[in-house]
Amino acid sequence: MSKFYIIGTPIGNLEDMTFRAVRILKEVDLVLCEDTRVTKKLLDKYEIKTPTLSYHQHSKISKIEKIFDLMKEGKNLALVSDAGTPTISDPGSVLVSKIRGEFGNDVEVLVVPGPSALISALSGSGFTADQFLFLGFLPHKKGRETLFKEIAETKRTVAFYESPHRIIKTLNSLNEFVGDRKIMIARELTKIYEEIVSGTAGELLKYFEGNPVKIKGEFVVVVSNK
Ligand code: SAM
Repeated sequence: MSKFYIIGTPIGNLEDMTFRAVRILKEVDLVLCEDTRVTKKLLDKYEIKTPTLSYHQHSKISKIEKIFDLMKEGKNLALVSDAGTPTISDPGSVLVSKIRGEFGNDVEVLVVPGPSALISALSGSGFTADQFLFLGFLPHKKGRETLFKEIAETKRTVAFYESPHRIIKTLNSLNEFVGDRKIMIARELTKIYEEIVSGTAGELLKYFEGNPVKIKGEFVVVVSNK
């Protein structure tokens, strides 16, 4: 029976690899990854010589058929993304679903847990994380205002991913819609310029507008529960 592993990898600091992730990446026949150059850096660090194949949201059906053929031959495959946990705002869920559709219970789909920017940000937030709403990346235009209204209405902690290009726009919207609720921004987690800052949207706007060099890198926004 072929095994298909979904493997979490570091979100910045390459030391954040589990022993199991390293062992399995060495043992499998092929590693499916978003960008082979990004994954190569990780594999090189751990002297993993397993071949790689790119797989992403827009991969052609012929690529999926190739993956199926390998699995029919009994080959074991691993899926990683550029960083963090595959399928969480990353490619992979369609592939996993197609694999289940094709092989049913004749394939073992196994998860090798690892870092995720979402969970890291939530655990560093200090906000209640027993229950939370995760919104992935917010839409750029259509539906954006509706989502901010939803964030304002929910009593739950809300987390989402944001890019440096839109963080100021997003803080302006949060200022308008959620007012005084506490917000935490986790930037560049596990990396050299890692920082976690919190305050109201208005306070965070002042902070970033006063420190434009900090409007760089990767961001997770967490809005406190109420
Ligand atoms: N699947 C990944 C995970 O589990 O962490 C997330 C992939 S998503 C395409 C990438 C987004 O995650 C970035 O745009 C950013 O919002 C967030 N992110 C990833 N790494 C991060 C980091 N080191 N610090 C803060 N946010 C990060």
